[in-house]
Amino acid sequence: MDKRIFTGNFTQQEPIPEAAIDAAIAVMRSGRLHRYNTAPGEDGEVAALEQEFAAFTGAKYCLAVASGGYAMGSALRALGVGPGDRVLTNGFTLAPVPGAIAAVNAEPVFVEVTESLTIDLDDLAAKIAATGSKTLLLSHMRGHLCDMDRLMEICDAGGVAVIEDCAHTMGGAWNGVPSGRHGIVGCYSTQTYKHLNSGEGGLLVSDDAELMAKAVMLSGSYMLFGRHTASPPLETFEKVKYVTPNVSGRLDNLRAAILRPQLADLPAQIARWNALYRTVEEGLRNTPGLQVIERPPQEDIVGSSIQLRLPRATAEEVTGVVKGCAARGVELKWFGAAEPVGFTSRYDSWRYAPAQSLPKTDHILAGLLDMRLPLTFSTDDAALIAEIIRDEVLALNAA
Ligand SMILES: *Cc1c(COP(=O)(O)O)cnc(C)c1O
Repeated sequence: MDKRIFTGNFTQQEPIPEAAIDAAIAVMRSGRLHRYNTAPGEDGEVAALEQEFAAFTGAKYCLAVASGGYAMGSALRALGVGPGDRVLTNGFTLAPVPGAIAAVNAEPVFVEVTESLTIDLDDLAAKIAATGSKTLLLSHMRGHLCDMDRLMEICDAGGVAVIEDCAHTMGGAWNGVPSGRHGIVGCYSTQTYKHLNSGEGGLLVSDDAELMAKAVMLSGSYMLFGRHTASPPLETFEKVKYVTPNVSGRLDNLRAAILRPQLADLPAQIARWNALYRTVEEGLRNTPGLQVIERPPQEDIVGSSIQLRLPRATAEEVTGVVKGCAARGVELKWFGAAEPVGFTSRYDSWRYAPAQSLPKTDHILAGLLDMRLPLTFSTDDAALIAEIIRDEVLALNAA
């Protein structure tokens, strides 16, 4: 029998919705692209987006910025993290996370990952004790949420402030609490490969007035913070406005206009992502040699990507599966490769940070495969993709 082949494109996103295109054209016709370039009586698209995203997450305050990486860097800076400070973060994450720590000249301390692909809470507790670090930049890498109740207990007990990197969990929740609302501040990305697509962009949410006033000043508000509609009260700015530098990183009205209709659609899009995710997951469950990542019932997921483990495979076998799948049109990324490729890099490639040893993480990454699930795929596509991966893994077992 001929081997079935998949012909879809793993990096093809859906088009921007027509309503968003219309809104973008209206902003361009107005000429008022800068967030503070507003007509009398007009709040502007950025301010409206901030209000809507605050409501979506249930946060008091929201600030839109230039990127997810910028959001994390300004959260660290607003918390007072600076040169030489040690910041705990996940050993399993992507380059903008340690990059945000390096941007404030602080030092990343990497924490091990578990088989559930979440931060290892025992290692976290041990490293809080060993380093005395007062900051955790927690990355919900690939959408996997750890036991957030226990994490917050550990961090609260250690006096550790938690910044959440929700680049992969926008719209997700733990025990009914939206991702980004457990720690002091949540950071999101609206870069093309995330859950909302404005090319580039980021958001911060928090209930902490002083932190958010600082973030607004940092983003470059030119003392026009009074025009924000999801920012802390004006008196909070009096405390911070002379001592917080302008580190320009604003969002513009054009991107905000593109994002607002997408935000309104997000719950429906999440349901579509999860249908793809559950189809691949079901198609691969009970495949000898392969493990799907079991998702705890407390987690509301956004299945925009899926991770698979080949826990007993050698490096050669994993590359065999990746190549076999690629030949049939299924693009898998491998986190165990020695060299960083494309978007996939590993803690030992971030050599501006002091060298660290994470044996558990090494072991898990050695057998970890990762696949995007763009919404341009149908559930039939998802079923075919699962069939192809299953075939290739079974062929490995037979060999
Ligand atoms: C994409 C991403 C970010 C933010 O990225 P930007 O490209 O700066 O918007 C942060 N964390 C993770 C894990 C990411 O994948």
